[in-house]
Amino acid sequence: MKDTLLKEYAKLIVRVGANVQKDQIVVLNAPVEAHAFTKLVIEEAYQAGAKKVIVSWNYGEDNKMYYQYASEETLKEFPEYNVKRLEYFMENKVAQISVGSPNPDLMKGIDPKKFVIASKAANEKVGFYRQYMMSNGSQWTIGIVPNLEWGKKVFPNVPYYEVIDKLWDVILEACRVREGEDVVENWAKHHKQLKDHREKLNKYNFKSLHFKNKLGTDLVVDLVEGHIWGGGSEVAQNGVSFSPNIPTEEIFTMPHSHGVNGKVVATMPLNYQGVLIKDFYFEFKDGKVVDYGAKEGKEVLKTLVELDEGSSRLGEVALISHNSPISNMGILFYNTLFDENASCHLALGNAYTMNIKDGYTLSEEELVKKGYNKSMTHVDFMFGSSDMEIVGTTQDGKKVKVFTKGNFAF
Ligand code: ZN
Ligand code: ZN
Repeated sequence: MKDTLLKEYAKLIVRVGANVQKDQIVVLNAPVEAHAFTKLVIEEAYQAGAKKVIVSWNYGEDNKMYYQYASEETLKEFPEYNVKRLEYFMENKVAQISVGSPNPDLMKGIDPKKFVIASKAANEKVGFYRQYMMSNGSQWTIGIVPNLEWGKKVFPNVPYYEVIDKLWDVILEACRVREGEDVVENWAKHHKQLKDHREKLNKYNFKSLHFKNKLGTDLVVDLVEGHIWGGGSEVAQNGVSFSPNIPTEEIFTMPHSHGVNGKVVATMPLNYQGVLIKDFYFEFKDGKVVDYGAKEGKEVLKTLVELDEGSSRLGEVALISHNSPISNMGILFYNTLFDENASCHLALGNAYTMNIKDGYTLSEEELVKKGYNKSMTHVDFMFGSSDMEIVGTTQDGKKVKVFTKGNFAF
């Protein structure tokens, strides 16, 4: 892959994604496998004026062995120095950048129960940091880089020595990083388009959305009162605009945790805890999953649905036209960050406080009363299709076509 394009991608992550400010501390989580690209990100962050860049390296195989060999007692431990570290990040309002290089099969064979134990323990001690990030306390973003294992899975028919380059090609195209074009300009244009849709939906202020397609989805999702459609760029509580997901095509808002009824059938497999869940569906009653099934991976789906009370309710509903760059590539990335941007999706688990009026200032109790869903997880699954029809019902009962044949109707 050309250095100039990789530099543009690093620029996108630092300048548009995290929008690093002068004298801000940057916390950079990165896999050792991606050290060459991470170096470009570090350099770009300093050039953007970062006070210092704290790199936290991780190594997938090490992580796997921890889950493989550590006892349940050990998995329950969450050392105090890690709590202090996150407190320091919060106090200093750091910009957080995560570089990911996912291997979808990495955790194959590890008992999913072990992840639950570890994430429960972590949540007890540092749930505050998760809440802080979920409510955009300061800027955060995620960028993805290829690896061989992942590439072989996405392109099983391409010779192994070409898959990394091939994966770079599609990642950069999905992120609008193109030869001879300024990536920051491309994203300014893209953000404007997303803003147009967002503003229209905010103006309609729908009471509910009815999703229907031939596959069997027939679902009514009530939206919370005072919901706000977000997507594209966001403004963190420190006043800085940023773009949490790169790439991003979605417009999303907050469903009512007790107002979802009907059936939804997934249109793409879900990679959860390293296991692929295929051909699955959920049935909701008054917001709660009352039935579900999967052709493959139902056991793992069960650990998700039963993780806590909120993991059986929705925290996000997102709209994406079927005719969009990632969707048009027709590639299954086995990675939520990309796959979720190919299709309308829902998320089981925690909602985003940015998606409701006064979300940052209301207490959690008040938010929950309004229909905000609380959970230690947030897992997106895709259900958009080329024949998706969506009808919105306004507060005074008028019906408005939102999607027709898979795409926005306005
Ligand atoms: Zn989403
Ligand atoms: Zn989501």
